[in-house]
Amino acid sequence: MMPIYYHCPRCQSLQVKERERSVFCPRCELNFDKKFLQILEDGDILANEELEGIIDVFAEDTDESDDVEDVFG
Ligand SMILES: [Zn+2]
Repeated sequence: MMPIYYHCPRCQSLQVKERERSVFCPRCELNFDKKFLQILEDGDILANEELEGIIDVFAEDTDESDDVEDVFG
């Protein structure tokens, strides 16, 4: 398996924290879904926080509790 090195699509920082399904950038304080990082151009990627704002308009609560842990790790 080739290791995948994630970076923040917003500030290009490599200092990101990898999680099970997402990558957190401490500098931007945003989470990005790994699926998006692998298939989309940086400029097309929305942070989970931004997506949640959009989704909330259409759907019921989409609480992802794993997005808030590890922030201080
Ligand atoms: Zn960033």
